Amino acid sequence: MTEQRSSGERSPEGVAWHSLSCDDALTRQQSTQSGLSSNEAQTRLDKYGPNKLRREQARPWYRRLLDQFNNILMLILLVAAAASLLLGHSLDAGAIVAVVLIIALIGFFQEGKAEQALEGIRNMLSPQANVLRDGKRATIAAKAVVPGDIVQVESGNRVPADLRLIEARRFRTDEAPLTGESEPVDKTTQAVQEDAELAERGSMAYAGTIVVQGTAKGLVVETGSRTEIGKISEMLRSVEQLKTPLLEQLDRAGRVLAIFILGAAAITAVLGALIHDQPLGEMFMAAVGLAVAAIPEGLPAIVTISLALGVQSMAKRNAIIRRLPAVETLGSISTIFSDKTGTLTRNQMTAQAIWLGNQQYRIDGVGFTPEGKFRLAQDGESGQAIDIDKHPELEYFLKVGVLCNDAELARDKQNDRYHILGDPTEGALVVAAAKAGIDPHALRRTYERLDAIPFESEHKYMAIVTYMDDQRRLLFKGAPDRLLEMCRYVRTPEGIVDLDVEKWETRIHELSSRGLRVLAIAEKSAEGIDTLEHDHVQEGSTLLGIVGLLDPPRDEAIEAVKVCRQAGIRPVMITGDHATTALAIAKQLGFSHTEKALTGREIEVMSDAELEDVILEVDVYARASPEHKLRLVKAMQARGGVCSMTGDGVNDGPALKRADVGVAMGIQGTEAAKDASEMVLADDNFASIVNAIREGRKVYDNIRKTVTFILPTNGAQGLAIMLAVLAGSVLPITPLQALWVNMVVAVTLGLALAFEEGEKDLMQRQPRDPDAPLLNMFLLWRVIFVSMLLLAGVFGMFSWILAQGGSEALARAGAVNMLVTGSAAYLINSRFLVNSTLSLEGIFGSRPVWISIGLIMLLQLAFTYLPFMQLIFGSAALGLGHWLVIGVVSIVIYLLIELEKAVWRRRKAAPIRH
Ligand code: ADP
Ligand code: MG
Repeated sequence: MTEQRSSGERSPEGVAWHSLSCDDALTRQQSTQSGLSSNEAQTRLDKYGPNKLRREQARPWYRRLLDQFNNILMLILLVAAAASLLLGHSLDAGAIVAVVLIIALIGFFQEGKAEQALEGIRNMLSPQANVLRDGKRATIAAKAVVPGDIVQVESGNRVPADLRLIEARRFRTDEAPLTGESEPVDKTTQAVQEDAELAERGSMAYAGTIVVQGTAKGLVVETGSRTEIGKISEMLRSVEQLKTPLLEQLDRAGRVLAIFILGAAAITAVLGALIHDQPLGEMFMAAVGLAVAAIPEGLPAIVTISLALGVQSMAKRNAIIRRLPAVETLGSISTIFSDKTGTLTRNQMTAQAIWLGNQQYRIDGVGFTPEGKFRLAQDGESGQAIDIDKHPELEYFLKVGVLCNDAELARDKQNDRYHILGDPTEGALVVAAAKAGIDPHALRRTYERLDAIPFESEHKYMAIVTYMDDQRRLLFKGAPDRLLEMCRYVRTPEGIVDLDVEKWETRIHELSSRGLRVLAIAEKSAEGIDTLEHDHVQEGSTLLGIVGLLDPPRDEAIEAVKVCRQAGIRPVMITGDHATTALAIAKQLGFSHTEKALTGREIEVMSDAELEDVILEVDVYARASPEHKLRLVKAMQARGGVCSMTGDGVNDGPALKRADVGVAMGIQGTEAAKDASEMVLADDNFASIVNAIREGRKVYDNIRKTVTFILPTNGAQGLAIMLAVLAGSVLPITPLQALWVNMVVAVTLGLALAFEEGEKDLMQRQPRDPDAPLLNMFLLWRVIFVSMLLLAGVFGMFSWILAQGGSEALARAGAVNMLVTGSAAYLINSRFLVNSTLSLEGIFGSRPVWISIGLIMLLQLAFTYLPFMQLIFGSAALGLGHWLVIGVVSIVIYLLIELEKAVWRRRKAAPIRH
């Protein structure tokens, strides 16, 4: 990897890049302002290796194996094995150890798979970088960046490599990962003293730091582990713990259960010895057996794999989980705060209408293809196509729109389709200009940009300075209400006249109520302005006109909103757009409250309490900036909501962190936003959030089903041994046999429910109460009820065979098979906890269920008929009649449980929470 890098032109200590001038730095890297050629970049990549830090090894395999034993239930088993050995029961001891090892191996492999799955998903999040290659802007994987590349970074990016800045505009970075200093640092292109401290090297931007403001261009001077961050930590800590609140809850429950079981075992043994005068040694073994039988050893591994499966299927549906606990939280989300632009809408902005001084124009075409005619709008109808040359004000307006703009229109070579590099809002203006025959590249070359303030949601406008007709001009575009405040005049074909604010407000309203996003464009003389400040863009400007951009809702989002409403989830829109635009789009999306929107300004004058009062009645928040998001989340949480919040910019960080599930945009989102979030959307699509919630509900449901399914098997075995000891009779199931049952159930039946697809009414239920325990009273009752049924089956079978004159071994074989087959029947019940499974779909709908039943039956046949199994486990060959009875009893158990469910459904008035 990076070790292959030859020291060649640089000394091992590295060059003091921060003290070199830009030109010297470029020369030393044998690069130019316009970057490297693709060929040269490839050569350098081969030479220097990929630009990445070595990742800390995922938990090494032996640690993962050892961790399997770091579990109280497993420890009890090991102690039991040791005790058995001391008491001379070496066969039992050996078998316990064997089973413990097998269970540990299962957990080991399952967790390995789970970790692999998470690892694969992490790779989906690999960062990208904007570089100049062959003189053109290109987006490449950050790991393909090489020394000599010219990299462009902007607010929200993570700096991909160590850069010597060659251009910087209001550029500030957060160097906390490097220096621990959380105050952002100003950066310029000025070389600094050679002996300057890392924190004072203002001419450098370092890999791993985050851009919090401005834009910059930099020459890559170091990559991979030669970067400053690479020197500090050769390794990137990114190994995620497979621990979630649910797993911890299970761990705790496991400990309580263990103590409870040990207590019960001890008491049983003592009572057995006292009442029935049994030898202590034997009673001890019985207690060991009881513990072994009652402990659900396989459960933790099964829950882990359920979570990992959930993460994987979410990833397939474009929701990439960054922190595992989010999988559980997603299931209880009750409010989705979502950005409008690009998430609820398609972000395929098309300029449709333009208002100049006293004329409205319509533009044909949708999407980014630069084909379409301009027409005069008459009485709301589109009229004659026009000749642009005869409308110089329109041409000027379009030109300013292109100059005050960072987007580029590009054409895919393969399919001839057009797409936008940069912000689609700005792209729409480039497309509109291209429709009028304006060449954006030529235009931008002619009128070179002298300075700029990039667009930010807080200020809601963008401004640039350029020379035009021997005049220094300030051109700006932004939210129309913001710009109207700054303008005194308006340009008309008749000349510059005073601005009639009311007239323009009507025009803005007219465009907004059609759901169009409105942008105003204005200008001002920039004489005497060197570096642009926000103060410069104040009063006294001249409005050129406004443009309305169409951004239709995504079809999937409309569907998803419907699903949300059935699922008791409130979708809430947050946008920087005008309230009227936002409400129009909310209506098209099918939101519930579309009469009133609350604006950022209104939120600002409200107290937290006032906001909490209205938050349940308002679904649309307009003219909002990132800081309002945080207040909205807090208010909703104060009203008991479990919130997800979307975000893409640096300033969305606090709201994303505060939300129960922060959701970052994968395409539009900045690294900063991704860092702050639990989940990343690969397609920036609202519908993917809703899909992820469905998956979250499903995973949680499946875990509950699994736990409810597994416990009765253990309960019945434990009770069987306990009752036998207390009654002074022979054990119907020996401890070894119980272990066998636990093991085969854990590898077959126990796993099946993790693959359940989710019940039909999954998204028709209310969100789960996040504080509700995994097993509520209803499910606890179910566990006890089924334990009793299985217990009755086991004892019944055992006594029946004995009564028929069968041997103890035969009776036990019957009891064990009764238990396993009964559990298999209960597995089908457990597919739906409340709903009936008495249907073709209910019984046969899941392939994993039947595969696991098939497998366990094979294992049971081996257990019953293979001579060496008979020897180890003390079983015996059953006859056909026995199997018949076992089958019939299992079906009866299945039906009884369905009956119990029906009773519960009848009593639905009583609160059964899913
Ligand atoms: P959203 O969160 O919905 O994307 P923004 O905060 O980005 O909203 O935009 C708010 C308003 O700012 C828009 O309605 C538009 O008028 C204006 N605007 C958006 N993007 C730009 C841009 N690139 N340049 C200038 N103005 C913009
Ligand atoms: Mg935006």
